[in-house]
Amino acid sequence: MVRGSCLCGGNRFEYSRAVTGVGMCHCSLCRKVSGAASNAVIIVPEPDFKWLCGEELRQSYSKPTGWSTTFCRECGSPLPQKLRGATAYWVPAGVLDDDPDVRIGGHIFVGSKAPWDEIGGSAPQFEEGAIPSVVPPR
Ligand SMILES: [Zn+2]
Ligand SMILES: [Zn+2]
Repeated sequence: MVRGSCLCGGNRFEYSRAVTGVGMCHCSLCRKVSGAASNAVIIVPEPDFKWLCGEELRQSYSKPTGWSTTFCRECGSPLPQKLRGATAYWVPAGVLDDDPDVRIGGHIFVGSKAPWDEIGGSAPQFEEGAIPSVVPPR
């Protein structure tokens, strides 16, 4: 099991299987949510994901377009949420407490990255793209 939690520890979860490597999304929305150059995300099938605690602390915010983010009401950490139109969870890799055993699989929405963002490493880069289709496990 790979475990994760928010900064205050009020939310805890675990999962048994990821179906992607770590996808680094450089889009403007992910930058707002993370406060960093990109969001780091792993996709986990719904049956393989389990919340351990924190339901009363979880809050979501949705843009009019339907794009949404879930976070801890107590500490503000980004949290896993169900992917729209898929039976899978979007899991922010930065809140994991264990080594997920996957590494960065790719960078997406590089076409709209911040002007100060310098992408390192050898993982493939995509101008746009959805994480499950472009970021295989590795
Ligand atoms: Zn918290
Ligand atoms: Zn994004």
